[in-house]
Amino acid sequence: MDHFLYRNGALHAEDVPVADIAAAAGTPFYCSSTATLERHFSLFEEALSPAQNLICYAVKANANLAVIATLARLGAGADIVSEGELRRALAAGVAPEKIVFAGVGKTPEEMRAALEVGVGQFNVESGEELEALNAVALSMGVRAPITLRVNPDVDPKTHAKISTGKSENKFGVPFDQAPNVYARAMAMPGIEVIGVAVHIGSQLTDLAPFEAAFERVAELTRRLRSDGVTIRRLDLGGGLGIPYQRVNEAPPLPFDYGALIKRTVGDLGAELVIEPGRLIVGNAGILVAKTIYRKQGADREFVIIDAAMNDLIRPAMYDSWHDIVPVVEPEAGAARLPVDVVGPICESSDVFAVQRDLPLIRPDDLIVFRSAGAYGAVMSSEYNSRPLVPEILVSGDRFEIIRARPTFDEMLKRDHIPDWVGRVDEADG
Ligand SMILES: *Cc1c(COP(=O)(O)O)cnc(C)c1O
Repeated sequence: MDHFLYRNGALHAEDVPVADIAAAAGTPFYCSSTATLERHFSLFEEALSPAQNLICYAVKANANLAVIATLARLGAGADIVSEGELRRALAAGVAPEKIVFAGVGKTPEEMRAALEVGVGQFNVESGEELEALNAVALSMGVRAPITLRVNPDVDPKTHAKISTGKSENKFGVPFDQAPNVYARAMAMPGIEVIGVAVHIGSQLTDLAPFEAAFERVAELTRRLRSDGVTIRRLDLGGGLGIPYQRVNEAPPLPFDYGALIKRTVGDLGAELVIEPGRLIVGNAGILVAKTIYRKQGADREFVIIDAAMNDLIRPAMYDSWHDIVPVVEPEAGAARLPVDVVGPICESSDVFAVQRDLPLIRPDDLIVFRSAGAYGAVMSSEYNSRPLVPEILVSGDRFEIIRARPTFDEMLKRDHIPDWVGRVDEADG
């Protein structure tokens, strides 16, 4: 469920007409709904209660400070993967002890920054990283609280580019090696072992892979405890999928996911951590664009819009589907015709939808890509020297720009021409 609905023939973001935001911010832009963010967060809270738990929002899904702060105010922790995300989480008001530092390539500088503020948990992904973290912690006279991220060799049955739990993926410690790495960790004075972590992939639309992974976590926890290792926290990662096609997708609900968690690891008496990203922000955000041209090709019609793959790369990168709807509600029973919806970038992959049945969309019409709140704005770039699109947050009848569109001057000012190059207008003087 989300809060982007038609009212009196006009698409609204909560109580604000989307067209009003377009008039204020220009297109294209991203827009998120506070009410949807809050609702999705509370679904996870309800799903895990009454187990002792911490919901660490995976910042990489949508890293805007206003989004993180909205969730932090509700009690969310943060799952971070870089020093930049650490700084964002802290700036948005997440308590350091509620921050989990994940990632397969943490640098010593990043470890130091995280230890300095006292993050609650490092998810260590290899014996090599463990040695490095131990050394950094000892040099600072502190102990780093860790879980080992184990690779359970479970196929999450999702897109290959977002599958992380199979043995051929770069993530985690191979399951069979985990007891040995835990034994090494227990002997390191700069390391405090607190638990086990797992994360098998993103956009999972079936609970069975989670079940297989969590059962392996339970098995490992029992084995480690019998070896004398303290396991008081289980971090089960993120990855629960969302419906991108409203009409024929029905991924599992947080409630069923929570029941599965309680069934597989609930009897271990450990604090439970989850790291949802996509499910919290995905359907809480839209990308709004304007049509530039409608072009008749040899065998098809193209709708050319002012958003492009640099703004939303998911279709080009993951072949993903986003529902597309016009901001002005089509008449009931209006004809739908197949069109290709494309951006202006000079790449054949700059395509949002192929032969999609859509109501008539004319030049200057506003259209909306639904389910664009996760891995949308955060993955955008300035390719083709297109300034990053602005981000808007709505709450009830209010909206604010939470990241402004850079001006062309700001974009150009980041470059520097060395003196030795000189300027063309001086070159032949
Ligand atoms: C990306 C990631 C998440 C969040 O995944 P979603 O599919 O957005 O829920 C959680 N944990 C880790 C370690 C990740 O890399």
